[in-house]
Amino acid sequence: MSTVRRTPAGATRTCPHCRAVILQSTSVCPSCRKHLRFAAAGGDAAVPTFSPLRVEGSIRHPNNGEAWEYAVTVTITNERGVELTRQIVGVGAIKPSELRNFLVAVEVFGPPEAAEQEHRGETATTEPARSGAIRR
Ligand SMILES: [Zn+2]
Repeated sequence: MSTVRRTPAGATRTCPHCRAVILQSTSVCPSCRKHLRFAAAGGDAAVPTFSPLRVEGSIRHPNNGEAWEYAVTVTITNERGVELTRQIVGVGAIKPSELRNFLVAVEVFGPPEAAEQEHRGETATTEPARSGAIRR
């Protein structure tokens, strides 16, 4: 059994730098990217286990007519389609010939124990990890 205390899954706090609501387990604010003095109490700082979703796209205004306005909305729903969060991330205008690039990414943080066990499994059946590749 692990003696490492983790914060409850989904527990949040406010970033002292930018006031964004972030995961309590994180040590770097995903919004302002500043390091936080206190990582998760008694545990290691969480790093993303994987990033299952990353969508990127651009909108270019044709060089004629008037400016366009845009609103970027992110909605999170559960398995039943119930809306958990709906936020406008940003609004603005695109003038003729201007371009805006949009990137949405979801990072998932798994329990550190799972990663440790996976690592142990690897080292139990193979030689201890060495730095650099050995070629024959
Ligand atoms: Zn921040």
